[in-house]
Amino acid sequence: MATSQQLQLHAPLSGVLMPLDLVPDPVFSTRVIGDGLCIDPTSSTLCAPLAGVVSNVQASGHAISIIGENGVQVLMHIGLDTVNLAGKGFTRLVEEGEQVDVGQSLIEFDADFVALNARSLLTLMLVVSGERFTWLVPESGLVDCGQPLLGLDTAGQALDEVNAEEGEALFSKPVTLANPNGLHARPAAVFAQAAKIFSASIFLHKKQDSVNAKSLVAIMTLQTAHGDVVQVSAAGPDAEEAIKTLAELLASGCGEAVTPPVEVNEVEASSLKVLRGVCASAGSAFGQVVQITEQKLDVVELGTTPHAERDHLARGLAEAIAALQQLRDNATGDAQADIFKAHQELLEDPSLLEVAQVLINEGKSAAFAWRAATESTATLFKSMGNALLAERAADLTDVGQRVLKQILGVPDHAIDLPEGAILIAEQLTPSQTAGLDTRKVLGFATVGGGATSHVAILARAAGLPAICGLPIQVLALADGTQVLLDADKGELQLDPDLAAIEQLQANRQQQQKRHQHELAHATLAACTRDGHHIEVTANVASLSETEQAMSLGGEGVGLLRSEFLYLDRNHAPSHDEQASTYSAIARALGPTRNLVVRTLDVGGDKPLAYVPMDSETNPFLGMRGIRLCLERPQLLRDQFKAILSSAGLARLHIMLPMVAQLSELRLARQLLEEEALALGLTELPKLGIMIEVPAAALMADLFAPEVDFFSIGTNDLTQYTLAMDRDHPRLASQADSFHPSVLRLIASTVKAAHAHGKWVGVCGALASETLATPLLLGLGVDELSVSVPLIPAVKAAVREVDLADCQAIALQVLGLESAEQVREALRLYHEATVDTSLVLEN
Ligand code: PEP
Ligand code: MG
Repeated sequence: MATSQQLQLHAPLSGVLMPLDLVPDPVFSTRVIGDGLCIDPTSSTLCAPLAGVVSNVQASGHAISIIGENGVQVLMHIGLDTVNLAGKGFTRLVEEGEQVDVGQSLIEFDADFVALNARSLLTLMLVVSGERFTWLVPESGLVDCGQPLLGLDTAGQALDEVNAEEGEALFSKPVTLANPNGLHARPAAVFAQAAKIFSASIFLHKKQDSVNAKSLVAIMTLQTAHGDVVQVSAAGPDAEEAIKTLAELLASGCGEAVTPPVEVNEVEASSLKVLRGVCASAGSAFGQVVQITEQKLDVVELGTTPHAERDHLARGLAEAIAALQQLRDNATGDAQADIFKAHQELLEDPSLLEVAQVLINEGKSAAFAWRAATESTATLFKSMGNALLAERAADLTDVGQRVLKQILGVPDHAIDLPEGAILIAEQLTPSQTAGLDTRKVLGFATVGGGATSHVAILARAAGLPAICGLPIQVLALADGTQVLLDADKGELQLDPDLAAIEQLQANRQQQQKRHQHELAHATLAACTRDGHHIEVTANVASLSETEQAMSLGGEGVGLLRSEFLYLDRNHAPSHDEQASTYSAIARALGPTRNLVVRTLDVGGDKPLAYVPMDSETNPFLGMRGIRLCLERPQLLRDQFKAILSSAGLARLHIMLPMVAQLSELRLARQLLEEEALALGLTELPKLGIMIEVPAAALMADLFAPEVDFFSIGTNDLTQYTLAMDRDHPRLASQADSFHPSVLRLIASTVKAAHAHGKWVGVCGALASETLATPLLLGLGVDELSVSVPLIPAVKAAVREVDLADCQAIALQVLGLESAEQVREALRLYHEATVDTSLVLEN
């Protein structure tokens, strides 16, 4: 039996100890690489925390690992995202393979330079070989370089080895995983932690793959999913107890609330008539099922030499980036091109590459290291409970698979589709959809994804109906089964009757006819039958969308979402890049049209890689929009300066997002005035705010004298008024902007604005719904800023009504109880007052 020994790890630096959980980088805070500690340094020479051999020192000098005598491996990483400094500010004092003594100087760094040029100077010391440790000092406070900090339990042998003395391994009964996402980061961490309590060597098995059950990273590389069957094996003195405890832990969900897994089989699927999900792209289609599955790739764990594996990885990445460029060049539209651009940028993410490098340095193959890096990061994203990050996880898995295929030399085979295909998949990736013959595809239906997922964006761009969030039984439908996909209702009908199919086809023909008519009249003004004009402008996020909006009859841009300039990249856009983008958009509009540029609306749910942000429990209620910008005024100043450079090219308006306090508006105005003065501008552009926080709507009478205009963001206004997450899949039908509470806020905002002679637009999704057009006209809204493809439809809807009727229906619905009642009243109003057949005949 192994005797317990303690190895001490000494402080590699002087500084202040900080809990690992607070490190603003999930790769470290979630201990994917290993557990350990973080020091905010006050000294600038990194010293060896233990005696051993330098197993790796990064060429850029910001990270080093040492292997001690008994196989303990410790990684030290100076600063966050310091890989971007490419060696500047670091001096390596030792070489790979060198034997070092405890306390020996390893790396010197220029603390001022690093602090100024990297995200943070926080330095990590992580036990990557996975041994448990105890603290020898309090877990926070000042420490001196060389002071013993951690006592490591090095009992027994290296974790990956099964000691022959431990005897035969025992196996648990197979356990079916009930966790909805398999053993993702949190349950995997709980499981690994529990396994570490035992001295036995413990492995987790899934089919032919086996991994060290005490390593979180290793468990995640198994890529378990809901319903997977796994087994635990253990060898050693407490093996029996370990098996029993760990098998029970797996069955109980490892700390997650679980329901027993659904066994997917065709009998069950075929006994159902309708499967329900959420609408991701409107429309309907009748066609045949084509199941799309991801190719299973065989990956060996151990590599040849780190040097050769690094080369493999670099080649795989380069080939994948080139393939993505080709997809971007051949993309059918902006939406698709943007997705592949974002994929290229993911491949340049320094933390992802670093995780892979660490694993390669530990002897893993390029494919194994890359898969572990992408999957563990994707699992992390998924486990954070944020819909947008979950979508990024899907991207990461997609692009991860692309690189993996390049490393393994597996060719991408095109899917041969029959006519009239309705594609069904657990998750349809952008890469899968890019290679499809879209003439044969009628729609998409997936288990994963949501209304904001890329498959939803692509489906909408291609005008195809799509449903996301379907139950897993949909994956058991046989290829060729005839189904009716009614995305408007969020239903997949498995046994549709003839009448339903005929009705659907008749509706579709009617819709197409109407669409043709709207397009033909798109350039006409949006005037009601009794002569009231409302401006119909566009919500855009690029120059090409602006141009498209103009060609579809848009009368200006009511919302330029400027985030597109900032997201999915590792550094802030330069002044020139910003200025030339704004100017190009302004020029496309010309001096007589409005351009409303919304200042940066990121934070919380939309993090920026180059702006350090603390992770937040409620990101939608945290440092978002104007709050974030006022905390980093230089960001806002730079943006103002760039926007101001297009003054005169269009009728320039600047709009602040997420305003809740008058002080925010005043402070932002002051910054804008200072920037305008510095540029010698005598006239300020119009300055307005979004009304998307109930506080601003309720105090619109106080805001109105201090703004030039309001634009109501009904998406956020709805989520904050109803306290319902706008991306929550189960609240999708309730978080409805037609709710009378939201409508009352719109009504009072308009009243307050008009009392001060200011105009009010609506730029949230409600403005793009033709059912809402009479209502918004009736409430007195002056401008509707809508999604580009819907400009002709909204303009046509304005031309069908009388303002006096609209005012009456608006008054009526303000007194109703629910969004359903409002929708029903508007439907009845539409049927009673609008003769659509006349419109189609004209
Ligand atoms: C809104 O909240 O309605 C809005 C238009 O802003 P975004 O959807 O960009 O948050
Ligand atoms: Mg908003």
